[in-house]
Amino acid sequence: MKTTMRLGVAVLSGLLLQCNTILSLFGQGEEESPNLTALAALLLASQSSSSGSSNPCTSSVSTGSTISNSTATVGGDGCISGVTTSMDSSLPGWIKDNFKCSVGYVVGDYYCFKSKNLPNHASYYWGNGANLYAALPNLDGTQHTAAGTNRIASQNFVYAIPKNPTVQNGTKSGTQAGLSSIGITRNGLAIFNNAAAPGDTLATEATTFDAFGSHPQSSGVTHHHAWVKQYSTDQSGTATTQYNNDVLLIGLALDGYAIYGSRCDNGTAGTGDDFTPTLDTYHGHTAVTQHFSTATYHYHYVYDSTATIKTLMGSSFYGTIGTVTN
Ligand SMILES: [Zn+2]
Ligand SMILES: [Zn+2]
Repeated sequence: MKTTMRLGVAVLSGLLLQCNTILSLFGQGEEESPNLTALAALLLASQSSSSGSSNPCTSSVSTGSTISNSTATVGGDGCISGVTTSMDSSLPGWIKDNFKCSVGYVVGDYYCFKSKNLPNHASYYWGNGANLYAALPNLDGTQHTAAGTNRIASQNFVYAIPKNPTVQNGTKSGTQAGLSSIGITRNGLAIFNNAAAPGDTLATEATTFDAFGSHPQSSGVTHHHAWVKQYSTDQSGTATTQYNNDVLLIGLALDGYAIYGSRCDNGTAGTGDDFTPTLDTYHGHTAVTQHFSTATYHYHYVYDSTATIKTLMGSSFYGTIGTVTN
């Protein structure tokens, strides 16, 4: 342990000036006091994947005005006032009709999203006194705990997501590989994977989720590992408190495959909280959905054995990933 600690310190010292950037890059397992060994590994991982120069979606298109946490409000379009929603006409209907609070367009073989990554809902993590401040929820009578002093902060995400996703042959890309986000929700927020800070499982860390199921990491990147309350309804349309046990589109993964709730509307859905079709280890399968009339691969929000709760994504991507920068 001493050896690895020293290695961690050496790596940290050498990269001190880059630390803020790197902290924003190691998306998962970030929140609470990661140990130095794990941090060193993450720092090293991020070095090989942090270059943003090859992002094909880089563009000067504006995502809106500067937002202050204290005065932020939700506007009539359901996004934080000042945050731009703009979906280019060249995007397919299933994106144009569902995604907001980000700027979407097409460049070559990629769907592009630029996002300030500001949650369009009340949260503890706007900070006490803010218009949108809300206490942390109770979970089975137990008060949630704060993710330290982490607070929501505006970001500059640029996602380049393959228009025509392809299965990745050989070893799949891990969802925890120094990426700043592994996908984007319909309301423009980052998606993180099934991992927690070293030493925790996500089930433990879930007690830091706000009333809408999100929380920020140390540089303010607000993200969902799991439940996205914005899209939580049961089959009768009644808002639920714990599950995305529905057929709704939740977001888009960095490999171009859509992410749905716990039920599949492919015509074979069962009953109960979960329709558990035969899914692969990546939380996915190939089936028709409301958005794809021919059988298309997609992910579901289901129980994950690593997280020991339901998560949006597993440990690896099924497809070849695009690029994300922040
Ligand atoms: Zn997290
Ligand atoms: Zn499905």
